[in-house]
Amino acid sequence: MSTTERTYIMIKPDGVQRGLVGKIIQRFEERGFKLIALKLVQSTEEHLEKHYADLKGKPFFPGLIKYMASGPVVAMVWQGLDAVKTGRVMLGATNPLASPIGSIRGDYALAVGRNIIHGSDSVESAEKEIALWFPEGTVQYASALESWIFE
Ligand code: UDP
Ligand code: MG
Repeated sequence: MSTTERTYIMIKPDGVQRGLVGKIIQRFEERGFKLIALKLVQSTEEHLEKHYADLKGKPFFPGLIKYMASGPVVAMVWQGLDAVKTGRVMLGATNPLASPIGSIRGDYALAVGRNIIHGSDSVESAEKEIALWFPEGTVQYASALESWIFE
């Protein structure tokens, strides 16, 4: 576990349309994570098929790709202690109905196919997803808060 662990977080087209971008960013900021990359992207089906390559063949795959290409997404990289696992806890479960109140999906979503946000599920997939969405790299800068957030 390192204070520089990175995770790829993406607000899906429904999250953008529903005006939840600010609230979601606020949760990661307030938890103490550091924003090191951010952009609004209209993705292509081809790019999304790479992002979700592990799910190719699942019955929901074609619908998932269409949903994800149906509008812009907010692509972000957040850095901090245990960022991948903690990010997943902040998201909730894949099915919003199984997500605790207080989690992002548990507070803002109902349907598995409209669950508003993506988060990497392992450090290895985070690094792959960051390379896929941010080939230009992330932004390095000093945060004045670091010594107040980490021992
Ligand atoms: N998904 C779906 N139906 C399912 C399972 C997944 O529509 O039965 C969608 C859902 O949007 C989910 C995405 O496919 O977020 C990726 O699935 P994964 O199992 O990786 O869930 P996640 O990591 O996003 O929780
Ligand atoms: Mg996943």
